Amino acid sequence: MAGPGSKRYVLGIDIGGTKLAAGVVAIDGSQVSQDRVPTLAHEGPDRVIDRLIDLCRLTVENSGVPWDQIIAAGVGCGGPLDPHTGVIKEPPNLPGWVDIPLVQRLHEALGIPVYLDNDANAAALGEHRFGAGRGVDNLVYLTISTGIGGGIIIGGRLYQGENGNAGEIGHMSVAFDGRDCNCGGRGCLEAYASGTNIAARAREAVEAGERSLLLEIAGSPELINGEAIDAALRAGDPLTVRIWDETMEILGTGIANVINIFNPKRVVLGGGITNFGSTLFDPIRRIAMSRAMGPLTEVVEIVPAQLGGQVGVLGAVAVALERIGTTGSEVGVGV
Ligand SMILES: [Zn+2]
Repeated sequence: MAGPGSKRYVLGIDIGGTKLAAGVVAIDGSQVSQDRVPTLAHEGPDRVIDRLIDLCRLTVENSGVPWDQIIAAGVGCGGPLDPHTGVIKEPPNLPGWVDIPLVQRLHEALGIPVYLDNDANAAALGEHRFGAGRGVDNLVYLTISTGIGGGIIIGGRLYQGENGNAGEIGHMSVAFDGRDCNCGGRGCLEAYASGTNIAARAREAVEAGERSLLLEIAGSPELINGEAIDAALRAGDPLTVRIWDETMEILGTGIANVINIFNPKRVVLGGGITNFGSTLFDPIRRIAMSRAMGPLTEVVEIVPAQLGGQVGVLGAVAVALERIGTTGSEVGVGV
């Protein structure tokens, strides 16, 4: 039975463009507290970080866990950032955050070790430790929402690459002369299959004069969004079905590439698009398995993420545990 002092906790911090979340989590993943506030990113980094520090203190107070039981804080934040120096570079969702030494600021204020990684790597680590990737040594995680992010776990550890930027699976090119992408490249997976770009491709087809139920559902081309696409798809609208089928071919191709390169046991898909359920997973599994090489398809499964709305805080916790190199047994969980 766990006695006083035998259990250890991590403070998980999730910095998003619209909300800040912080939670106290035991190292076995059981959550003790969680609080959130709006980011109000337009106020700039200093005020946002001050509010973040207040939020951390509040959530620790609400948890009832004494500070000396909290072994570290983990932070997940939109990139680009440097996970080794703890500096935020210039994320598109946080205007004005240019070369912000976030880890140093939080460490000075909170007095515990602080570890930072980008939100997609954090989510990959969170799913690996607490969610759909538990017990799996080799996995690739993709989050498909407004953009497409990824994280790669090899041999049970996050693969960060030479300067911490590995795993940009959304910017793998699937069409050498394809659509322009935000990153400056062409034909990227994200340029076709992110939620934003699925809607953009549907809108472009409607604006080019193709008839579609989408226009009736959304009201005008610029209001075409995921909900409208879902409704039009259910109604069997030919244009929407065609856009969706193309998207599945493209995503399935991208995932086949991932399978061929990494030979993972599991590909975990998260993000808003996974709400489409079997409408997404059935075609993607079929296409990815038909395009990937035989021996690699024998061991891989493509599964939905499990952490849902908790992935931000739990992913941040997993960042800290990964960097400390802590497993549950080493710090006495369950003892
Ligand atoms: Zn790109």
